[in-house]
Amino acid sequence: QPITNHMPTAELRALDAAHHMHPFTDAAALEKKGARVITRADGVRLWDSEGTEILDGMAGLWCVNIGYGRTELADAAARQMRELPYYNTFFQTTHVPAIALAARIAELAPGDLNHVFFAGSGSEANDTNLRMVRHYWAVKGKPEKTVFISRKNAYHGSSMGSASLGGMQAMHSQGGLPLPGIVHIDQPYWYGEGGDMTPAEFGLARARQLEEKILELGEDRVAAFIAEPIQGAGGVIIPPETYWPEIQRICDKYEILLVADEVICGFGRTGHWFGSQHFGIRPHIMTIAKGLSSGYQPIGGSVVCDEVAETLSHGEFYHGYTYSGHPVAAAVALENLRILEEEDILGHVNRVAAPHLAEAWASLADHPLVGEAVSVGLLGAVALTPDKATRAKFAAEPGTAGFVTRERCFANNLVMRHVGDRMVISPPLIITPGDIDLLVARARTALDEAH
Ligand code: PLP
Repeated sequence: QPITNHMPTAELRALDAAHHMHPFTDAAALEKKGARVITRADGVRLWDSEGTEILDGMAGLWCVNIGYGRTELADAAARQMRELPYYNTFFQTTHVPAIALAARIAELAPGDLNHVFFAGSGSEANDTNLRMVRHYWAVKGKPEKTVFISRKNAYHGSSMGSASLGGMQAMHSQGGLPLPGIVHIDQPYWYGEGGDMTPAEFGLARARQLEEKILELGEDRVAAFIAEPIQGAGGVIIPPETYWPEIQRICDKYEILLVADEVICGFGRTGHWFGSQHFGIRPHIMTIAKGLSSGYQPIGGSVVCDEVAETLSHGEFYHGYTYSGHPVAAAVALENLRILEEEDILGHVNRVAAPHLAEAWASLADHPLVGEAVSVGLLGAVALTPDKATRAKFAAEPGTAGFVTRERCFANNLVMRHVGDRMVISPPLIITPGDIDLLVARARTALDEAH
């Protein structure tokens, strides 16, 4: 019997539990309840196998920027599959979708970030960055410049390299990470860690940890600093305004490459094409994925500045993925970028959705469980606290407020994630004010039920 959407949900769940290993999931806990089977989607909504409508407050995994159901992307994929379903970009060949997409990204990217090395995902792109940066310094005659400085609680992917760049303790504890040559400084999380400092003082203090770390290691050993403009999976940590200018100053002063991981912040999430533009960051390399294709096809890449690309252009860089610049993924990404631009979706974010979300979301701050409610563009977070006065934290274990609130969101047909005691949202960029109100109302109901 073929397995289809029409199968009873219980049977689908049983097969899922028997054969499918889920990422970032406690299999035993999942088996008790069974996974929710998502069968279709349109706009900002999902439907499950029982016909229930769910509001997707996370755009999948922070990626479906143009929303679900855009048949133009399906058509672009089908056209490309018929014409040239696959060819590689290794060994002196290329193809039109990869050329066109690289040229388009170069147009959109700030400064002289004019070169794209494609990958299949954000993790692969960050692995590329690790090798590319170390190779770059070797070519420049400074092979001892190998150390990457990253941040605690950062998320840069799940491969060995990218998870090492990430700063998630739980991930490091499985698989013997981080790899050598990757060190972490503290995150600029004022609400959680700022104590008595003002946000401005705290932003400077946390940025200066980078300088202290460089001096401790020796500047001739440090290759790069990598960071998300706004930490996403770490809980939508929006840095104080003083943070990024100081980081930029330090990278410039010590000749450290700056890698901005734009996997979440890119392609309109903050109201700019890239989160770096929101903060005035001038990266040498940007990591991209997710919103590049709105998640319709797996694709990522490293966007590289002229000087780094020029340095690497002498001799072979022994690196690449079978699916680097995959023609179908590239064609879909191009169509996604066309829609983002021609439909002025960034304009919608800036003029309509982000201002509306900022106000509606901030209204949650009066809830007894909520310590802060913040947003930039269409990225938002609330910090849950048992005591607003002391900004105390809940324990990071199942059964505490974050877990319960996420469960209650899901039960109320809203996808909202939790990271420790922060609840985060990242809806499709096309969300309307009416659906933002619905999202916030469901979030409030979930908070009431969790309280
Ligand atoms: N970088 C950031 C900032 C991310 O948020 C993610 C995924 O969530 C990644 C990298 C990894 O991307 P992927 O899951 O496509 O490998």
